[in-house]
Amino acid sequence: MINPFENEQRRAFKDSIAKFLEAEVWPHVDAWDEAGAYPHEMNEKICALGVFGFDIPEEYGGLGFDDAHMRKASGVEMGRSSAGGLMASVGSRSIMLKPLTELANDEIRQRVLPELLSGRKGGALGITEPGGGSDVANMKTTARKDGDEWVLNGQKMFITGGMQASYFVIGARTGGDGMGGISLFFVEADTPGFSRTPIERKMGWWASDTATLYFDECRIPAANLMGEEHKGFYAIMNNFNNERFWMAAQMLGMSMRLFDECVAYATDRQTFNKPLIKHQVIRHKLADMSAKIDAMDAYLNQVAEIINTGDTPVAEISKLKFFCSTNLEWIASEAMQIFGGAGYLRGNAVERIYREVKVQAIGGGSQEIMRDLTVKQMGL
Ligand SMILES: Cc1cc2nc3c(=O)[nH]c(=O)nc-3n(C[C@H](O)[C@H](O)[C@H](O)COP(=O)(O)OP(=O)(O)OC[C@H]3O[C@@H](n4cnc5c(N)ncnc54)[C@H](O)[C@@H]3O)c2cc1C
Repeated sequence: MINPFENEQRRAFKDSIAKFLEAEVWPHVDAWDEAGAYPHEMNEKICALGVFGFDIPEEYGGLGFDDAHMRKASGVEMGRSSAGGLMASVGSRSIMLKPLTELANDEIRQRVLPELLSGRKGGALGITEPGGGSDVANMKTTARKDGDEWVLNGQKMFITGGMQASYFVIGARTGGDGMGGISLFFVEADTPGFSRTPIERKMGWWASDTATLYFDECRIPAANLMGEEHKGFYAIMNNFNNERFWMAAQMLGMSMRLFDECVAYATDRQTFNKPLIKHQVIRHKLADMSAKIDAMDAYLNQVAEIINTGDTPVAEISKLKFFCSTNLEWIASEAMQIFGGAGYLRGNAVERIYREVKVQAIGGGSQEIMRDLTVKQMGL
């Protein structure tokens, strides 16, 4: 579909990412997934594309400007690569950069942001706990003030990039029950009282490292409080919007890749003396896939336009996230069907994306929570 919002700068940015990923990632995705890891230098190479620098001043290593259409383009290309695990781990820094840029003190920003944006060091965001992820306001990890230090106790679970990360943004309870008692903290991996263990054997994102984090009388400087005490919940919710928009763009890219794979396979595969693509049932599946892809694309463009005005359309971003994940679920399932038995074998993009659909429907705010937030935002 023609993108009415494309211009020379956006096209050049998109093309540079596509060119890099097609040459340096596409050929290796399967091997990295099977190995459960990717070469460490990919962190620096992907960061060098500038995909994480939006809305971050140049003095910290950022791009010094923002453009939601370019953010979208980077997500689409990452999705199209079908390298979900790699993108999740390298991308884990992206979901902690906004609070770090906006809320950390200047010493931390100047020291840490260039390390994260260059890919030399990794970062992760710790919100979810073993007791639950959807009900953020109910988190149990605590931070108590002791002189000029904060002392953290508790656990965080499912933390993407958590084994590699040197720096963390962590939510913890500083006050009473509910959303008004939560604050955000900057924690470094070498702090005494901090430890982590890997979460192995995930359904998808095999190449990514996922961790459980432990805080046992973990002492950090008072200056590591990010933003105002007890105001962390609002910063967490605000931060989710960026993550959800970017995930939606990735889901569009994953869907586009599935469509392309299906067209290629169905053109080549013969059944009942003609190419699969000449059977009407298959053609209709492709038509439906294409319509859903166009709808996701158009919706993302519309939301990108709103974001570029400086607004944060929470209801639309929530709708976008569950709209894209439900469409991706359908498209991935139909793609598997078109591939038949071949799709059931490991080592192809259709099978890989199929097992990575669910994390898109759950992580960063599940479909149910996105629907809840949508109607709440509508005042219903
Ligand atoms: C691979 C992976 C990577 C992740 N990376 C990170 C990360 O980097 N950082 C981080 O902080 N978290 C991360 N998460 C956690 C993720 O955000 C949570 O899994 C998600 O928010 C859901 O929380 P939960 O798993 O605890 O499910 P729960 O909150 O226990 O919910 C279980 C189910 O019940 C539904 N549900 C819950 N409440 C309601 C309700 N009121 N009405 C209807 N249905 C409801 C949910 O939608 C879900 O389907 C990751 C998760 C995965 C799987």
